[in-house]
Amino acid sequence: MLQINKRKNSPTSRKLNKIQLFEEQNGLCKECHNPLDFSVTDHIKPLGLGGSDNYDNLQLLCILCNMKKTEKDLQDIWNQRKSKGGSA
Ligand SMILES: [Zn+2]
Repeated sequence: MLQINKRKNSPTSRKLNKIQLFEEQNGLCKECHNPLDFSVTDHIKPLGLGGSDNYDNLQLLCILCNMKKTEKDLQDIWNQRKSKGGSA
């Protein structure tokens, strides 16, 4: 009982964010609006494109939408790299 570190209970923990997002989205996927049986935390603007880890850049998606979006994000990142400068 002596080694409890109270700072670990900060309200900015990711777990809490996920619950907040879930409630904010009424338990529905942000893309297809189906109930989230199993949700994935997604970066609206991918980290690879300069997106942040902030709460307002996060959303919950169902697995299917997350897979689709990840594919698209990777394509965007790839396209951005190509347009930035020649040989990758
Ligand atoms: Zn979905």
